Amino acid sequence: MWVKVGDMVEVTTGDDAGVKAKVKAINHAAGKLTVEGVNRVYKHVRKSQRNPQGGRLSMEMPIQMSNVAVVCSRCGKGARMAVRLVKDGSKERYCKKCGGSTGEVSPPKAARAAK
Ligand SMILES: [Zn+2]
Repeated sequence: MWVKVGDMVEVTTGDDAGVKAKVKAINHAAGKLTVEGVNRVYKHVRKSQRNPQGGRLSMEMPIQMSNVAVVCSRCGKGARMAVRLVKDGSKERYCKKCGGSTGEVSPPKAARAAK
C-alpha cells in the first residue's frame, strides 16, 4: 500500500471510521500504522521518575493498514493509490479515483525515460 508518514488518511472501519487524520508512524513489517488521534487508549501508569504524577496516559495504538484509505490531495477523497511511470523516467504516486498525481516516489532514471 502506498502510504507515507505525514499522509492524510481516512479510517474506513472500526470505532474511528470516517475520521481523517495524519499518519504518524508506519510499521511495514507488521502491516500497521499509527494515525493521529485514532485508536486512542488509556495506559495506566504508576508514579515514576519520568511520570511523577502517575495516572492515565492517553496514547494512540497502531491500526491495521487495510483499515485506512489515503486521502487524495487532488480530489480530497479516500482512494486507492498506485504508482506509474512518468515520461521523464521518474515514478509518481497517483489516485485511482481521479488519476491526479500525489507526488513523486522515485527520481528520474534515464533508463526508464520514454524515447
Ligand atoms: Zn483523487
